[in-house]
Amino acid sequence: MDGSKINEKPVNESMLLEQGYRKYSGENLDIYYSKDICAHIGNCVRGNADVFEVGRRPWIIADNGSVEEDIRVIDSCPSGALKYIRKDGK
Ligand code: SF4
Repeated sequence: MDGSKINEKPVNESMLLEQGYRKYSGENLDIYYSKDICAHIGNCVRGNADVFEVGRRPWIIADNGSVEEDIRVIDSCPSGALKYIRKDGK
């Protein structure tokens, strides 16, 4: 699922926070996660355990992966529980 969009529309921060997503800031990319939407399928953790590690606090550390790597894993989330906003102008 495209982590930069909801219903074909580009996401923005206020939309995501309003919908109950929590923000995990990185230098060049912020990751947003909704525990209500998460289906616990684990693609994120299997995709990159440095960025997504259940049991760690915070469990998401965006800067442990490159922007491209974070996006690759976020887009593998089938439920839409993970979204991202790039901050590097790309
Ligand atoms: S891939 Fe998405 S649905 Fe699966 S555990 Fe991670 S956040 Fe939840």
